[in-house]
Amino acid sequence: LQRKSDVIVIGAGAAGMMAAIRAGKRGRSVLVLDHARAPGEKIRISGGGRCNFTNIHAGPKNFLSANPHFCKSALARFTPADFIAMVERHRIAWHEKTLGQLFCDDSAKDIIRMLLDEMRAVGAVLQLGTDISAVERLETGFRVSTGDGVYEAASVIVATGGKSIPKMGATGFAYRLAEQFGLAVLETRPALVPLTLDPGLLASIAPLAGISAPAEIRHGKTAFREALLFTHRGLSGPAILQISSYWREGDEIVLAIEPDIDIAAQLKRAKQLNGRQSAQTALGEILPKRLAQFLVEREKISGNMADLADKALLRLAASAQNFAVKPSGSEGYRTAEVTLGGIDTAALDSRSMEAKGVPGLYFIGECVDVTGWLGGYNFQWAWASGFAAGECA
Ligand code: FAD
Repeated sequence: LQRKSDVIVIGAGAAGMMAAIRAGKRGRSVLVLDHARAPGEKIRISGGGRCNFTNIHAGPKNFLSANPHFCKSALARFTPADFIAMVERHRIAWHEKTLGQLFCDDSAKDIIRMLLDEMRAVGAVLQLGTDISAVERLETGFRVSTGDGVYEAASVIVATGGKSIPKMGATGFAYRLAEQFGLAVLETRPALVPLTLDPGLLASIAPLAGISAPAEIRHGKTAFREALLFTHRGLSGPAILQISSYWREGDEIVLAIEPDIDIAAQLKRAKQLNGRQSAQTALGEILPKRLAQFLVEREKISGNMADLADKALLRLAASAQNFAVKPSGSEGYRTAEVTLGGIDTAALDSRSMEAKGVPGLYFIGECVDVTGWLGGYNFQWAWASGFAAGECA
């Protein structure tokens, strides 16, 4: 194994493998180090095992960052179409599931295989099971000390991801390294994560566990329309994961269930057409029955539709479509899909991801303060930032 190479990539995840491929294509000798036993473990478990590898609508507006402009350059230079072209070259079948989200027909492992094949084709060397103990700057380049000895390279690309899913080996490595080299790290927090409720509220919604419904979830001016899922721990489903990236402790969110239906109008019509129906039955024709029962009881509404004032029906509709909830917290990094915050983009060159004050040192992927929405955006950022660094390192 060569001890000296042009580029060392730390982290064989989505971003690191893409960076290695690009640098290798430019003729650079590349060594990829990872402490895990297998590369791309998060790719393997992503998208329910089918990897939502990109989103055809991916653009800067789908990302959260202290500097919303930072991601533009990289995203423009490696687009979803570029990744799709690679997937097609490898004859991996894919489909659009919903909202521009592209998934493998078969398995996320196809994406890992593709990246490994591409790395092999350009001669990038992958070394797994390697713990990194130190990264130091030399007069020219860097020295990376590992459990397997010392490696040197002109450039080091750090692609060790965020803090989510510590059980799979996520570490704060990139943040510590950034701080060692004087780069600022913005506060990190779990994102794309289910939200929890305080015990009283949780007990009251316990009967709803398992119910899923289309919903619009609002937080201030931000709103997402996707599925909402009630669980025995609180609130989940894509709409909640999306809003969790915007929510902060103490904030309220508003649930609008079945946002495309005018529930108030439908209840009024039901009252005219079938006055002997109970409110619970009428609402149960619009919403899942257990949810209808819960809302009717919550609003203390009983009796036949004919006996209910329109005001009561409006209150019932509002209970479903203007349901304010104050989550108590989130499930944390244990289940979060990504980490919000991270290495301050002010310290990085947006074209190359190179640290401004440390020539030859690059940070890419999830460890950088660029966080995508749910739906393939985070992988697109990993590919694009990896490509950008691989193009320059
Ligand atoms: P990672 O993929 O996390 O790779 C980091 C690599 O660095 C790992 O191989 C790790 O072993 C290695 N590493 C870490 N610390 C060290 C260290 N100290 N020394 C050596 N190596 C180290 N995004 C989507 O776009 N679509 C999806 O369908 C999707 N599904 C997801 C499902 C789940 C359950 C989770 C948790 C996330 C999902 N994401 C999805 C998010 C996506 O996985 C991440 O945004 C993406 O993997 C980040 O890529 P990365 O290369 O920056 O980091």
